[in-house]
Amino acid sequence: MNISNRSFYKTNDKNNVITCDMCQKLFDVEERVPTILPDCGHTLCAVCVQEILERDSAAEHKCFICMEPIDGGHVAEDFRAN
Ligand SMILES: [Zn+2]
Ligand SMILES: [Zn+2]
Repeated sequence: MNISNRSFYKTNDKNNVITCDMCQKLFDVEERVPTILPDCGHTLCAVCVQEILERDSAAEHKCFICMEPIDGGHVAEDFRAN
């Protein structure tokens, strides 16, 4: 899925509001950029992904939704691509 597709950000009708499952806030294009976790395919905002990856214990680097471990290296590559 190409999250840079412009129509993605225009999906703002009430039936299809796109929010981060972790912080319950709307995705945006600057701070809460939707970030797909490479290992499980779930989408969290960049703020939450960053918060997870900054936890002291690597064992805590897990997807908020499914608890799949997150490979921080892969996510960082995605950040650079954006
Ligand atoms: Zn979030
Ligand atoms: Zn997940």
